[in-house]
Amino acid sequence: MGRYTGNVCKLCRREGMALWLKGQRCFSEKCSLKKRDYPPGQHTRRPRKVSEYNRQLREKQKAKRIYGIQETQFLKYFRLAERMKGNTGENLLTILERRLDNVVLALGLALSRFHARQLVSHGHVTVNGRRLNIPSYLVRVGDEIGITRKEKIRKLVAETVEINRGTEVPSWLEADPTNLSGKVVQLPKRDDVTHDLHEQLIVELCSK
Ligand code: SF4
Repeated sequence: MGRYTGNVCKLCRREGMALWLKGQRCFSEKCSLKKRDYPPGQHTRRPRKVSEYNRQLREKQKAKRIYGIQETQFLKYFRLAERMKGNTGENLLTILERRLDNVVLALGLALSRFHARQLVSHGHVTVNGRRLNIPSYLVRVGDEIGITRKEKIRKLVAETVEINRGTEVPSWLEADPTNLSGKVVQLPKRDDVTHDLHEQLIVELCSK
């Protein structure tokens, strides 16, 4: 599955909000959004009329960019959310939260989503004791997430955990920073998704 490899700060500027894609840099004065809080490109500072379609599209793009996924994968998640019981929009967001790369980030084992994804796809992450290199794997209740035994990797992740110390871990996960691991204690609910996303707009767009 492909991924966006361009300048991620431009994505934040396009959406007009911080998508937190660069780890600690996002909290510093170096954040591009603080210096240029207008969309990238020429003629983008002119006020424009925003259509309903545009609002829906921007919301979908925002969700894709926050979770670092492409259109095809996103639509797969949407179809899965539709088949599940309950509210489709809420189902969609909780599915996105359950991605293994998101869980690695939420447990404080990575500095950014890209870092989390790299740890997973390079085979440094284990689920229930077995290496799993699929960032899109959806975690289940009881899954135990850890880091492989490679000394060099563990040392690097331990440094990351130290940097992330004090960052709140979502209530549906249980972190064990000492052992560089964590556990899924329950499935996430809508309230556990802290990103500023209006899922109803996404549902309206994807249901067309
Ligand atoms: Fe977005 Fe982070 Fe870049 Fe700021 S530093 S523009 S929040 S990715």
